[in-house]
Amino acid sequence: MAASKGDLMTTIGLIGGMSWESTAVYYRLLNEGVRARAGGLHSADVLLHSIDFSPIAEMQAQGDWAAAGAALAESARRLERAGASCLLLCTNTMHKVADPIIAATMLPFLHLADVTARAVLASAARRPLLLATRFTMEQGFYRDRLRAFGVEALVPRPGERDEVHRIIYEELCRGEVKPASRERYRAIVERAVREEGADGVILGCTEITLLVSQADFSVPVFDTTALHVAAALDFASEAESVAA
Ligand code: GLU
Repeated sequence: MAASKGDLMTTIGLIGGMSWESTAVYYRLLNEGVRARAGGLHSADVLLHSIDFSPIAEMQAQGDWAAAGAALAESARRLERAGASCLLLCTNTMHKVADPIIAATMLPFLHLADVTARAVLASAARRPLLLATRFTMEQGFYRDRLRAFGVEALVPRPGERDEVHRIIYEELCRGEVKPASRERYRAIVERAVREEGADGVILGCTEITLLVSQADFSVPVFDTTALHVAAALDFASEAESVAA
């Protein structure tokens, strides 16, 4: 029997809500991307499980990563049962528990650090500054994964890291976008460019795209939210062209 268009659709599964401010950006960018690629009234085929962030943030603060991993693995299973074709975890930080999430289903998992590393490698940058939560900047799970691709990510100084982290949780995850915080991020990046030879900047937290963009910096910007969305759209196009 000939496949109908519906049979060929790839359903992009999102584990979101961490925070919903950035998940909303994913949803918009996925739909804008499909419109740009397919035109007309086409829009993205998406399944979103949006999680209540508060208990997850509490687990992060307590260092209870096992509980957080179990909660997100359950989210992945729910998306698989609902018919997702692939999984995107819409937060860099929670890639700390990527392993239990990947193990929970048979679905392809589009790892955000891999997507980011490939984008850096496709540019001239090799020593980008990583702006992210303290977990992502200071623990090995993200930088080591970038290093495996040959990308040596720098991080801000300790006091700067505190500020970058605070602005994410106290402002961006609550929908507050403040010009003074934008200036702070700009100053942190430009200092690293001047003094440490940073040659790019990774917006390594999915909310940072709400605050700054390429226009704010003298070096290339790697926006993990936009890169993750582009990878999902590429995945869907490839899957559909194979099925066609
Ligand atoms: N969305 C953020 C990230 O990409 C931070 C929130 C969280 O801890 O998940 O890391």
